Parts: sequence; C-alpha cells; structure tokens
Amino acid sequence: MSISETSGPLHCYKHPQRETYLRCNNCNQPICTSCAVLTPTGYRCKDCVRGQQKKFDTTRWWDYPLTAIVAAVLAYLSYTLLQFISFLGYFTLILAPLIGAGIAEAVRFVVRRRRSKALPWVAGGGVVAGMLVFILPMFISMVPLLTYQYGVATGGIYSFASLIFPVGYIILTAVTVYYRLKGIRL
Ligand SMILES: [Zn+2]
Ligand SMILES: [Zn+2]
Repeated sequence: MSISETSGPLHCYKHPQRETYLRCNNCNQPICTSCAVLTPTGYRCKDCVRGQQKKFDTTRWWDYPLTAIVAAVLAYLSYTLLQFISFLGYFTLILAPLIGAGIAEAVRFVVRRRRSKALPWVAGGGVVAGMLVFILPMFISMVPLLTYQYGVATGGIYSFASLIFPVGYIILTAVTVYYRLKGIRL
C-alpha cells in the first residue's frame, strides 16, 4: 500500500476511496475537498483545525475558582483602600482602570497565563462580587423599611445619587479586568 510514495493522486486519509492532490499543511496527511478546511495559513484537515481550537482553551478546572477568588478578594481590598482616599471624590474613578489592570495581572499570574473564553467573564464577575459587599448594604439602606436597621450601621442617609460613584467604579474596574484578560488594551 505504498502508492503515495510515487507521484499521482493521493487518497484521503479519512476516505481512502477518494483521490486527491491536497495535503493538510500541518500534518501533511492527504485530504479530500470535503475534509479540507481553508484556514488563514492554508488547507488543513479537520483534526488539525480542532486541535488548533483546543489550544485557545488552556485552562484547568481550578483556574476558574482561583480566578473568581483572586478577583473578588483584590476587588474587595481595593475598595477598602479606596475609602481612605474617598475625599478625592469622583477623582478616584480614574484609579479604576489602574486597579483593574492590576487585578488582571494578578489573575494572569495565578492561572499561569492559561486562557479561555470564559476566564475574562469569571474575573469580571469576581470583581463585581467582591465589591458588591460594599454596595449591597448601601442599596438595602435605600429600601425604606430597612432604612432604620441599616441606617444606623452605615451611618446615614444614602440617596440613589450616591450609588453613581460606587456603581461606576465597579463597572469600570470589571470592564478593565475583562478586556485586559481578553488581551485588549484599553
Ligand atoms: Zn492535519
Ligand atoms: Zn476525506
């Protein structure tokens, strides 16, 4: 069966009865037209294309809980630190992209630069979850019935306007983390 040594038509490795002149430019197997996939680098067999796609998802299962925890804890800490410079007011919003970039780098470090499509979402979600700890009591204090209970603990009157800053800060940070991990620089 060493026909392929000589010139002349090859036979598709999946469909031996089909003659072809095409070869996969990655594994060099003969492929027929229905097995060939045109990629930016030329014709490839379906196995190689599938293998290529798998490479984009290099994560291990533990990368997801790890990413969520690191993102949430760092987001929580950053928000805590932010309370000390809250006298800067809305000016602190410009720190959000910097903090987001820092969190993204930390996540990238703990997952050893492994990547997948879902990872940026998990990290962004972690950021939101970590900061929600601050936002939630504020939000609850706006519900009239609970105002008394939480009004004491949070020390005062919160209006919906006071949520603009924290919500803006959370969104800005989460979006930065998401895009950073997707490999897009803002
Ligand atoms: Zn191939
Ligand atoms: Zn074929």
